[in-house]
Amino acid sequence: MLIGAHMSIAGGVYNAINHGVEKKCTAIQMFTKSSNQWKAKTLQKEEIEKFHELKERTGMFVVAHDSYLINLGTPKKALLEKSRAAFLVEMERCDTLGIPYLVMHPGSHTGAGEETGLDIIVDSINWLHERTEGGQVMICLETTAGQGTNLGYNFEQLAYLINNADQNERLGVCMDTCHIFAAGYDIRTKKAYNNTMKQFDEKIGIDRLKVFHFNDSKKDLGQKVDRHAHIGEGFIGKEPFGYFLNDKRINKLPFLLETPKGEDGEMDDINLNILRSLIKK
Ligand SMILES: [Zn+2]
Ligand SMILES: [Zn+2]
Repeated sequence: MLIGAHMSIAGGVYNAINHGVEKKCTAIQMFTKSSNQWKAKTLQKEEIEKFHELKERTGMFVVAHDSYLINLGTPKKALLEKSRAAFLVEMERCDTLGIPYLVMHPGSHTGAGEETGLDIIVDSINWLHERTEGGQVMICLETTAGQGTNLGYNFEQLAYLINNADQNERLGVCMDTCHIFAAGYDIRTKKAYNNTMKQFDEKIGIDRLKVFHFNDSKKDLGQKVDRHAHIGEGFIGKEPFGYFLNDKRINKLPFLLETPKGEDGEMDDINLNILRSLIKK
């Protein structure tokens, strides 16, 4: 199975794979560039080759996450242009590195209203798809907690984006357990889990799911606040992660932690071991 965590690229993009190997991950998530800067240092040939070599040798499944500065739903012209250009660079970097999925937070309307924001995101996706014709990377819209003016906090909004975008066969979804829970989708019992997945399937279709972010939540159901907790230490609890891991419809997909790492990453070991212990043989 594909289980892992978000890993740092400090010192070179290939280091994310090295960290994953250290933690016995079969999948990792990484940024393809510094996540809190607009500028991207050009990837050097040597760095690219080393990344491919490591990825092939270890069989690591790699997912990328976009920079936090990017807002593809902003009504502000200058920021929108900057965001689209930066996201395009990230898509190109994913193709260079052979990374199949680029997870992104759909965007924030920052006061312009939800409908306006959603339409701007659709335009952004079209803009990007037009410029990456023949590209391999798939944009994965992440479910959000709905904090502030963040869009994508319910399945209807994600469905709207998918249904209205051109080339929507190139769109997938990343489900974040903390975010859906904070947005009001219960998963704490098997019955609640089944109901949430059924809603997802009806609104979007389970086939759209490509990636999972596994985080417990420091905030209770429906609080619309995005605070990640260690597995089993938040309001979701340990057991529900087993519902996902043992669900045959989705258990070939990558399950990735985005939880605090603690010193020397020892919290990754603890969280990953909890996840592994929940898999039924
Ligand atoms: Zn996430
Ligand atoms: Zn989050």
